[in-house]
Amino acid sequence: MKKSSLAAITAPLLRWFAARKRPLPWRDDPRPYYVWVSEIMLQQTRVAAVLPYFDRFIAALPDVAALAAADDDRLMKLWEGLGYYSRARNLKKAAQIVMAEYGGVLPAEAAALRKLPGIGRYTAGAVSSIAHGRRVPAVDGNVLRVIARLTGDGRDVMQETTRRAIEAAVGEIIPADAAAFNQALMELGALVCLPRGAARCEACPLTSLCAARRDDRVATLPVKAPKKERRVEARTVLWIEGPEGIAVCRRPPRGLLAGLWELPNLAGHLTRPEVLALAKAMGWPVRSLGKLPAARHVFTHIEWHLIGWRLRLKDGAVNPPAADGASPLPPIVWAAPGELKTRYGIPAAFRCFFPAEG
Ligand code: SF4
Repeated sequence: MKKSSLAAITAPLLRWFAARKRPLPWRDDPRPYYVWVSEIMLQQTRVAAVLPYFDRFIAALPDVAALAAADDDRLMKLWEGLGYYSRARNLKKAAQIVMAEYGGVLPAEAAALRKLPGIGRYTAGAVSSIAHGRRVPAVDGNVLRVIARLTGDGRDVMQETTRRAIEAAVGEIIPADAAAFNQALMELGALVCLPRGAARCEACPLTSLCAARRDDRVATLPVKAPKKERRVEARTVLWIEGPEGIAVCRRPPRGLLAGLWELPNLAGHLTRPEVLALAKAMGWPVRSLGKLPAARHVFTHIEWHLIGWRLRLKDGAVNPPAADGASPLPPIVWAAPGELKTRYGIPAAFRCFFPAEG
């Protein structure tokens, strides 16, 4: 299909969407705050995983004002397990700006939305079109794939120039019901025009209009340049039970999982004698030391290969780590076991080292 005839997809696509769309809370009630929060949660995360988080988040922080005033630890707790925690921090920062500059009402124009922290071209387009009905494109990975296949576009969709070209092509054909159209394109990509050889062309309302289907290129489109390999890091995680609770510490304010609570952990895979030497250096009297099952955690650019040790300390004084920078661990806080659930948002990478309950 030539781009000039891309407009032919509109009617069959909207009919299909009206009949097949999934009921979703932010779709049933597309108020701007709901659409915004859902779009941020859906970045890098599947709909099924987002649903319970969305309900909990909205129940706890029902509007922009509540989000802007949210306690940081509570916010992280609500986000715990969703990953990519900077998304939550940016949500709060943006909410504070919306309170200060827009009287608590999210702006409708994509250009104004894009100025808020954490809102890029796609999210701005999604909120502006879905919540406010503006005729602006919202091109995510699903839409890139659908349009590249429909038009037989063989350019690398990871390139910004290709993304912009596809965005412009979509922008030219958005009908009056921009909210339904943009969601329909995304929904088609999520349910039918699936990636990695799983496209369900037989169930697609656009089969007769699709260049990739016609030319037998569904398996090879869209074109994506190979990603850089992830850096692998070996780390040792410590579950330390002291008389006053479980040791947790805060990550640095910048970088991976910035500012979140974590179990103490160090670079490399520490042996039993090395963990005992560490405990000695910290001034911790050891009652017992046991190995925990190893784990792997994959981030966008880094892959952690983790081993764990469970360290039980004897009763008696537990010396705080030296505050002179010589300590191998950052400052420790002793959390009561219940507080790990209620107060400290520990990222998923560490939670597999929590002992089984009971
Ligand atoms: S016909 Fe197949 S490749 Fe083309 S848009 Fe539909 S599902 Fe995607």
